[in-house]
Amino acid sequence: MAWSERQQAMLAEMGLRVWLPRPGSLRADDDPPMPPAAREEGEAAASPTSPTSPAVAEAPTRTMTRGARATGVDTMDWPALREAVVGCTACKLCEGRRQTVFGVGNEHAHWMVVGEAPGEQEDRQGEPFVGKSGQLLDSMLRAIGLTRAPDAATRQVYIANTIKCRPPGNRNPEPDELAQCEPFLIRQVALVRPKIILAMGRFAVQSLLRSSEPIGRLRGRVHQYQGVPLIVTYHPAYLLRNLDDKAKAWDDLCLALQTAQAVA
Ligand code: URA
Repeated sequence: MAWSERQQAMLAEMGLRVWLPRPGSLRADDDPPMPPAAREEGEAAASPTSPTSPAVAEAPTRTMTRGARATGVDTMDWPALREAVVGCTACKLCEGRRQTVFGVGNEHAHWMVVGEAPGEQEDRQGEPFVGKSGQLLDSMLRAIGLTRAPDAATRQVYIANTIKCRPPGNRNPEPDELAQCEPFLIRQVALVRPKIILAMGRFAVQSLLRSSEPIGRLRGRVHQYQGVPLIVTYHPAYLLRNLDDKAKAWDDLCLALQTAQAVA
């Protein structure tokens, strides 16, 4: 396949190297190998493989009085919803968190990105995707002209996680934790009213699509969530360990872009 200069620039943003033979030099099968997979430290676990990081700093676990989630989440406005998340003690994750991680971006964004759960850096900074997988996510977004930085609703995305508190040791979220947190995400989607949702990783997909099918089987087509087109793709943490799948993630971004353009 021949890549245009624009496509090459986009792929480079995603860390996908396109090796172009100098005229008369390399054959296609002489391509140099990709660099070794970057290892993540202290990032949230990401499907399909979820190793626990060896050097993960834990917040001190405290015993908190566990209560019910606030009622009326489904009619809350942004300030009330944020407050409900900050004060949530509905599951045991409240005991190990430094802070809740609500979401970031344009509250009227056309694009909404849904990840899994905060990792160490997110727990420290209170913002989703600020570790290494966040850097990759930012590059992926930049490759299609989007950003988390302040911008118009057409360009600035809204990013949220399925789970608002960091699971200890970056373990996978448990079913009761997903269930307790789900109303917050449902309400975030309802308030943002995005034109497209990008669901990254197994837990985002499980929560939004109620499907336990592997990502590989769900990606490549347009799903619906609350009437909003939804594209499934790999989680950036997974892509950092599985460089070969970055090309598929690129296809997913292109599908999302086409879908968003068709909706607009
Ligand atoms: N992985 C996620 O899914 N979300 C984050 O906020 C960080 C890492």
